[in-house]
Amino acid sequence: MLEIISFILGPVSTNAYLVADPDTKEAAVIDPAWDGRTILKAAQDRGWRIGHLWYTHAHFDHIGGAAEIADALNPLPLVALHPDDHVLWRAGGGGSLFGFDIDPGPEPTIDFQQGMKLKLGSNEFEVRYTPGHTMGHCVFYFPKENICFCGDLIFRESVGRTDLPGGDWATLENSIRTQIFTLPDETRLLSGHGSETTVGEEKQFNPFVNEG
Ligand SMILES: [Zn+2]
Ligand SMILES: [Zn+2]
Repeated sequence: MLEIISFILGPVSTNAYLVADPDTKEAAVIDPAWDGRTILKAAQDRGWRIGHLWYTHAHFDHIGGAAEIADALNPLPLVALHPDDHVLWRAGGGGSLFGFDIDPGPEPTIDFQQGMKLKLGSNEFEVRYTPGHTMGHCVFYFPKENICFCGDLIFRESVGRTDLPGGDWATLENSIRTQIFTLPDETRLLSGHGSETTVGEEKQFNPFVNEG
């Protein structure tokens, strides 16, 4: 079983997700956006151990809380990121463009790749490589319950911006069509910003990429 706690954190209202197997108490944070102590407290209140930080991509507003979480944990959580976003990670997630200087926290040591499986207790996630918003963007699909944590690839009736360094519209559109629209229509999309949606709704109503 998977438990999901969601937070809206930081200067650009980023969604962070604390996910856990309540039986084994193993937890991971998908995009520790900001205010690491808030996420940490939610885990501690439930007796969960945060062992991993999984980044959909390395923008500052998705990793800004990592250092605070890591500072409070021993052993340190393992950080996972696609290698094509390492340059962005080293550059502080591009925060300086927006006037934010963040501590990016522990160095990523696990390289995501297409099709990789992530385990959290009895739960298994599939990594899907979805560049376009950044060069190393990935989403995490949880097939057992048809949930996809999709970062800044696609939002409810919108898509991730492609005007920042490493962004590319044709690549983003291709990622959505091949990695999101191929999932079952009822799949819940938990995005990096805004409210949740489903694959079926976006195929029908997304004004940027749809099947219409
Ligand atoms: Zn982003
Ligand atoms: Zn974002």
